[in-house]
Amino acid sequence: MKALLQIAGVAVTSVTITFTAWAQDTGVLDKEKAEAAHKRPPAYSPYVGRDYPTRPFFGDTHLHTSFSMDAGAFGARIGPRDAYRFARGEEVTASSGQPAKLSRPLDFLVVADHSDNMGFFPDLFAGKPELLADPTGRKWYDMIQAGKGGEAAIEIIVSFSHGTFPKDLMYFPGTRAYRGAWQETIAAAERYNEPGRFTAFIGFEWTSNTNGNNLHRNVIFRDNGDKAGQVEPFTVYPPMGSDNPRDLWKWMAAYEKKTDGNVLAIAHNGNLSNGTMFPIIESFTGKPVDRGYVEQRAKWERLYETTQTKGTGESHPVLSPNDEFASFELWDKGNLDGSVAKTKDMLEFEYARSALKTGLKLERDLGTNPYRFGLIGSSDAHTGLAAMEEDNFCDVHE
Ligand SMILES: [Zn+2]
Ligand SMILES: [Zn+2]
Repeated sequence: MKALLQIAGVAVTSVTITFTAWAQDTGVLDKEKAEAAHKRPPAYSPYVGRDYPTRPFFGDTHLHTSFSMDAGAFGARIGPRDAYRFARGEEVTASSGQPAKLSRPLDFLVVADHSDNMGFFPDLFAGKPELLADPTGRKWYDMIQAGKGGEAAIEIIVSFSHGTFPKDLMYFPGTRAYRGAWQETIAAAERYNEPGRFTAFIGFEWTSNTNGNNLHRNVIFRDNGDKAGQVEPFTVYPPMGSDNPRDLWKWMAAYEKKTDGNVLAIAHNGNLSNGTMFPIIESFTGKPVDRGYVEQRAKWERLYETTQTKGTGESHPVLSPNDEFASFELWDKGNLDGSVAKTKDMLEFEYARSALKTGLKLERDLGTNPYRFGLIGSSDAHTGLAAMEEDNFCDVHE
């Protein structure tokens, strides 16, 4: 073989010499010049040479199950396993007792339960002794047993949002109960993930809600349970958690460093952020966003959930007065808990289309565009059922 190669080498050398001699008179013909001189006519078929992905996949990156405290409180009894089964096209029994099934299966689903107090409600509902040992836990359990689940739900949610939720009942990362809920979330995804047919992503929702202003993000792992199971979700509640997106990005970076994995955050409902979702002034510091902010945001947040059941977030008639569709499905009354009413000056920093413009300005000043994102729509259903078809809608909260 070696001898053959040597012969070939000699042959090539002699051709080169001949070519060089000839080229002295006529110039060197390289590939680029040859193609320019002999332009090929465009192919008849316009798709010749196209090689980008063309197969769309449909799914939901934002679904809550009974593991989310609010969903559980409002009556969701479907956990992550049945949520994945339903998304795969199987028939399940809804929390109302009715059978439910999709007209066609989804290609992927992310069960994105709220990380704060994940798994609390199914345990309360089941009467877990540790929860009944606390007088408030006992009271809520008795209310549910007495058919006053709605009243209990409101008490539970109000106490959590006002910071008066009993500490002993809290499901914090690092506790056995919290770990169990996260492990079950992962186990459900692993059980129903079927490469090539259905992707069950592991994820959670980080629900930052400072002063009622929605800065929520869904965090989605591109990894299996062997990596996602090495951490527990990032929460909002201190001391482990934080409501500042910069701290979420730090957590994401630490996850990737620890596991060599990949993770993504997708924000949603800027329309309920009262001007804080796409800032030029950071609400946490009152200072202009800096290089650190724009670089981190561009790195971790490549998609924005532009539409979902709590309102569309692309544009607004005030921002796009000539777009007759800009008023479609808006929720623009105030922030998430309704504590502060909406004013027009907030809109520019809430909607995706104006954020794209803000991003260009920030790129000019800081070198990186933090708001260059792709757009998606999700359900944010709190029923465990990703059922958004018009003739098969399974509601959002019950
Ligand atoms: Zn949310
Ligand atoms: Zn949500």
